Amino acid sequence: MPADECIFCSIVAGTNPCHEIYRDDTTLAFMDINPANEGHCLVIPKAHFRKVFAMSPKAFAAVASSVVKVARAVNDELRPGGLSILQANGALAGQTVPHVHVHVLPRQSDDNLLINWDRERTHDKSSDHARIAAIAERLRSRLLASK
Ligand code: AMP
Ligand code: ZN
Repeated sequence: MPADECIFCSIVAGTNPCHEIYRDDTTLAFMDINPANEGHCLVIPKAHFRKVFAMSPKAFAAVASSVVKVARAVNDELRPGGLSILQANGALAGQTVPHVHVHVLPRQSDDNLLINWDRERTHDKSSDHARIAAIAERLRSRLLASK
C-alpha cells in the first residue's frame, strides 16, 4: 500500500481527523477510534513504515520515547489496573493497519482481551530447553553479524 493511501499517513498529513494527544518532530499519538478499553491510544512514527523491520533502531527509539510519555500520562490520569504496550507486525500478529503503531492499552480486571497467553503452559515443543537454546544460538549469531 502506498503511503498516500495509508489512513495513518493521512492522519499525520491532517487530511483525516484524530483525537491527537501528543506530537513531536517524528512521532504522533492519538486515541484509538475503536478502543479495546477506555483510554486506548496509539503512538506512530510520522514517516510511513509498514513493519518494525523496516525501521532503524533510532527511528523506533523515537517512537518508544513517546510511548513512555503517553503510557505514563495514561497511567497517572486514568489509573487503570495495569497497562499493556503492544505492537503487531503482519496479519498473523494481528496487524490491521499497515503503518507501524504501538498500542498503549490500559487494562481492567476481567477485560478478557485475548493478548495474554498461559505463562504456565509446558505442553508444546516451544518449551523444550534444547530447542530454546538452539534458537538462542541462532539469534546470537545473527545479532552479532548485524552489529
Ligand atoms: P492493529 O490491529 O494492531 O493494526 O491496530 C490498528 C488499530 O488502529 C485498531 O485498534 C483500530 O481501532 C485503530 N484505527 C484504525 N483506524 C483508525 C483511525 N482512523 N483513527 C484511530 N484509530 C484507528
Ligand atoms: Zn502510513
